[in-house]
Amino acid sequence: MSKPRIHILALGGTIATRPDATGAMQMGLGADDLVAAVPLLAKVANIEAETVSRVGSHSLSIDQMHALAAKIRSLQVDGVVVTQGTDTLEETSFLLDLLLDLEIPVIVTAAMRNPSLTSPDGPGNLLAAVRVAADPWVRAHARALGVVVVMLDEVYAAADVLKAHPTRVNAFASTQTGPLAALVEDRVVPMTLPVRDAVAAARRRLGDAAKAKASPVALLWMALDEPGYLIEAMIQAPDRLGYGGAIVGAMGGGHVAERSVDALKKLANLMPTVVSPRAGGGPLLRQTYGGPSSEIALREAGLIWGGRLHPLKARILLDTCLRAGLQRSAIAELFNAFG
Ligand code: GLU
Repeated sequence: MSKPRIHILALGGTIATRPDATGAMQMGLGADDLVAAVPLLAKVANIEAETVSRVGSHSLSIDQMHALAAKIRSLQVDGVVVTQGTDTLEETSFLLDLLLDLEIPVIVTAAMRNPSLTSPDGPGNLLAAVRVAADPWVRAHARALGVVVVMLDEVYAAADVLKAHPTRVNAFASTQTGPLAALVEDRVVPMTLPVRDAVAAARRRLGDAAKAKASPVALLWMALDEPGYLIEAMIQAPDRLGYGGAIVGAMGGGHVAERSVDALKKLANLMPTVVSPRAGGGPLLRQTYGGPSSEIALREAGLIWGGRLHPLKARILLDTCLRAGLQRSAIAELFNAFG
């Protein structure tokens, strides 16, 4: 059987660093360098490699990811592997998942340990990602899987995967659902398919068309004794400080400090304001607690209920909704499908 054509798109990140004269790691390697470091890739697939950028993922933009999605859509290949930094991978992979609906596997991978260390994980993660992209089960289920992340021999759904540690090699996890598959020896061992009804419903509303840049989404993290000054500043500034929507990283099942409730209600009248669980994702309550800062009061006051998405992923979804020009009711319906 002929080997699949896999296209590698390199964006930068630790996987693409090399030491400068002082020994500090700098972005520098391109896609060809990454491929040259893993001769086994040629046994698994016919590889095409392309350097898109050489930047840390902390400096990528949402516009760049829209451009990357358009590029991926235009490729005539059997699978795509994106390499980037780990810092924003939980966001970029979910954005690609919202923007792409392809019959071919799209995999995002990265590295936690840089190439100058004794045990860098980049080469192993790249080989694993290409194995996943070339795997017959993955190819047969590509649309059902959506965009996936491969790190440390595990495969994760883009809607669920989180960076759960800043430095450890096992930094990634899907705490709500667990991995979809594992790599063992040279095999991909499938374990489960993700439930993607809410992503599919969102995709139907969002479409594939290139989106106009919209005003950015503010991430407002609620915390013990949070006074809400930032929320007040957004309400008082005529341009809302430039923001077009807000994510409220709420406590517990969807709660905020009582002192910030009035400001949040005002904000929700001015822009789509989505309540999302700061606990790391997981479904919010809807009808358990009463009182002014409860989920019942906040929902009645018009705050959009974010469902099980982590606030970082909710921010990506809201940004995509705003770019697509969706109005508040459509946005609320789309978030509601996430539980
Ligand atoms: N901060 C850099 C980035 O996200 C390096 C982190 C990494 O790749 O692990 O690109």
